[in-house]
Amino acid sequence: MSDLPSTAQVVIIGGGVGGCSIAYHLTLMGWKDVVVLERHELTAGSTWHSAGLVGQLRSDANLTRMMYYSTDLYRRLKDETGIDTGWREVGGLRLASSPERMEDLKRLVGMARSFGMPMEMLTPKEAWELFPIMSLDGVLGAAYTPTDGVIDPTGLTNALAAGAKSRGARFFTETNVEAINLKDGRVHEVVTNRGKIKTEIVVNAAGQWGGEVGKMVGLFLPVVPMAHLYIITKPIEGVK
Ligand SMILES: Cc1cc2nc3c(=O)[nH]c(=O)nc-3n(C[C@H](O)[C@H](O)[C@H](O)COP(=O)(O)OP(=O)(O)OC[C@H]3O[C@@H](n4cnc5c(N)ncnc54)[C@H](O)[C@@H]3O)c2cc1C
Repeated sequence: MSDLPSTAQVVIIGGGVGGCSIAYHLTLMGWKDVVVLERHELTAGSTWHSAGLVGQLRSDANLTRMMYYSTDLYRRLKDETGIDTGWREVGGLRLASSPERMEDLKRLVGMARSFGMPMEMLTPKEAWELFPIMSLDGVLGAAYTPTDGVIDPTGLTNALAAGAKSRGARFFTETNVEAINLKDGRVHEVVTNRGKIKTEIVVNAAGQWGGEVGKMVGLFLPVVPMAHLYIITKPIEGVK
């Protein structure tokens, strides 16, 4: 395992999809001296558990725009890095089963279209034709995004890390951040089980452990882990 550097322009804490994406994009912007610290292996946190569903329609315009950008990135990441992200653009449906939800979907579709995202409102029957195993009971309509999809979260994280590494970022796994030292009220040094790194910028990408990292500099971050479930089925006839 290579030695930690004694200094870095930025230290990113957390090697999940968030930390690796930040490293990817900082290096894309020309940052060279980027260090990512992960206490286990890349993807060891929530990322490993993710179902990998990528639905772009969000309640907020900025989040929707970010998701729109993400799908564009997912389309080209394999060619760029040589790592298969398993991206499949299968399309996504959001159902409305109340008049209020229907109004909300129409508003969101209008917002998404205003910056060029392909989206349309479907009747219940049109939605059913796309996903024939669903029950139409109570369904008033649906928003359809043909460019939604599904991705392998581990493949995605490794591809983002590979892109960042190819532009000079350094990744250190089995490296636990134990403290962050301040000097004159500013970040000065990150203390790990493998040594210290002087830096002026720390990015907290520790996901559900973000609160612990916040405490290291006296900040209270209201991060609360929530249980999240999904099921994996055998192939179902009529569903691709
Ligand atoms: C069951 C489940 C299903 C999900 N399905 C979806 C889905 O379909 N679509 C979707 O978009 N999202 C889904 N999510 C959410 C998604 O997985 C998370 O939003 C995402 O993975 C968070 O990534 P992250 O990088 O912020 O956090 P994490 O992946 O948790 O990464 C944080 C990393 O920080 C490291 N770390 C913490 N503290 C320290 C420290 N002191 N020093 C060094 N390293 C540290 C941890 O080891 C961890 O690897 C799902 C989540 C779960 C649990």
